[in-house]
Amino acid sequence: MIEVAADIAILGSGFAGSLTTLIVDRIGLTPVLIDRARHPRFAIGESSTPIANLVLEDLARRYQLPRLLPLTAYGSWQATYPSVGCGLKRGFSFFKHEVGQTFVPDAAHANELLVTASSDDEHSDTQWLRSDVDRFLVREVERAGLRVLDETDIAAPEVGDTGGWILRGHRGATPVSVTARFLIDATGAGGFLPRSLGLTDDVSSVRTRSRALYSHFVGVEPWHDQLTALGGRVADHPFRCDDAAQHHVLDGAWLWMLRFNNGVTSAGLTIDDRRHPYDPSVTSDQEWNGWLDRYPSLASQFRHATVASTPGTLRRTGRLQRHVTDIVGRQWALLPHTAGFVDPLLSTGIAHTLCGIERLMHVVAHCWGDKNFESELKRYEAAVRTELTLVDELVSGCYDSFGRFGLLTAYSMLYFAAATSYERRRLADNDAFHGLFLCADDGAFRQVVRDVRAQLAPLLDEHAPSPTQITDFERMVERSIAPFNHVGLCDANAGNMYRYTGAGRRRD
Ligand SMILES: Cc1cc2nc3c(=O)[nH]c(=O)nc-3n(C[C@H](O)[C@H](O)[C@H](O)COP(=O)(O)OP(=O)(O)OC[C@H]3O[C@@H](n4cnc5c(N)ncnc54)[C@H](O)[C@@H]3O)c2cc1C
Repeated sequence: MIEVAADIAILGSGFAGSLTTLIVDRIGLTPVLIDRARHPRFAIGESSTPIANLVLEDLARRYQLPRLLPLTAYGSWQATYPSVGCGLKRGFSFFKHEVGQTFVPDAAHANELLVTASSDDEHSDTQWLRSDVDRFLVREVERAGLRVLDETDIAAPEVGDTGGWILRGHRGATPVSVTARFLIDATGAGGFLPRSLGLTDDVSSVRTRSRALYSHFVGVEPWHDQLTALGGRVADHPFRCDDAAQHHVLDGAWLWMLRFNNGVTSAGLTIDDRRHPYDPSVTSDQEWNGWLDRYPSLASQFRHATVASTPGTLRRTGRLQRHVTDIVGRQWALLPHTAGFVDPLLSTGIAHTLCGIERLMHVVAHCWGDKNFESELKRYEAAVRTELTLVDELVSGCYDSFGRFGLLTAYSMLYFAAATSYERRRLADNDAFHGLFLCADDGAFRQVVRDVRAQLAPLLDEHAPSPTQITDFERMVERSIAPFNHVGLCDANAGNMYRYTGAGRRRD
């Protein structure tokens, strides 16, 4: 029998669960970390952002976790932890493909968009090889002498005589009993508490409706090389377009590509389920090959590619979106990725999760055991919900405009304005910053998003909005985001090639 007594039990040892466990310990409470799996294990959700780096850096400093600091930039990561898998991410790149046609590069880059997020490779963002990163972090938990119960299946939580929680389960054949005063659910899509407490998933309120088909591959040719062979003007690119969260925009779908240093590429289709509903009679392989068959330049990129030994197969999901209505309750809280999820499109997941950890840990650090604890938890719940709603507004508008690249590039500027404004505000306020992810608490910005969406809607009804209508939309977005545009977004002279847009780093 394994018996553990903790203040806080954290379920799920993805990066979020492990980081939370380390912080709970630094706050002076006793954590226990529980996962049904064992590291290393495959996990998706790999493309980080400047916001994620800023938040991780602040958490590492605030809670004295200096060993995590190198993970906040590509250069320090490579210098300190070269064996922890990682990729260089200098920004976001988008390429619009037409069904049945080889990609035709446009001299003015009308079917490309590159937005630089990092000033140089040394200070760059990263792609996280999650099996390595998550294993590294769980080892940090063990290194700190904290209790980790992996390969442990827990049944529904029970309330004990003293009002705390009792978690009973098994680790292999050995019975497990954990007592804790508070539960934090970091199980993501596993949804331990949502399932065991019967929480409602109000997914009907989420506009985005997508599903995914993905894996890790070896032998994927760089898009830069494909584009060069096709006559693309890659010399105009502000960074090598493969060192990015690469988005290939298709008809009712997009394909992500994230390259790691070890020759592995994460690639996946995220498919608009309204346009291309899940068909159980088509296998994952058939569906994947069907998409590549329709896009010759992508097929060419994958012509020598094979699925990597981990995970070994293509993975296909149902609808990706979740929206759990209760995010906190009596002595429990869900981290953002358990509370809800929208879509990988704008790489919001890691950063949002880190923002949620920061907010929840602030509540624990300052209000544990006092009368404000529950009301502060409610504020955390409201923040996570508001942030998820904004992400949905940003992502769903992009999906709606996939068919007209000019509209998509203009609409996506809302996200880049929100991200860069958030970075600036956070850097300006130092440790006093409590703003919501992507400025979700800024009423003026939220109104801009609503206004732009309203202007987008009629253009989507037309079969092909005229070039003038698209230009008018672009200029309207430029005017609307002006108070939030400190980095030259919507600059017609940039020709869809945006040089460094970031707000900098604390360590710059
Ligand atoms: C297809 C897809 C692509 C994505 N791409 C990106 C991206 O490029 N960039 C980005 O920022 N975000 C992305 N995300 C979001 C990202 O995956 C999440 O933000 C991130 O994984 C959250 O980390 P986590 O540690 O909270 O949860 P997870 O990584 O989901 O970890 C959950 C852990 O809980 C464990 N677990 C599950 N159920 C139980 C249970 N019942 N009992 C015990 N343990 C359990 C699992 O074994 C796992 O270790 C993507 C998401 C999806 C679905």
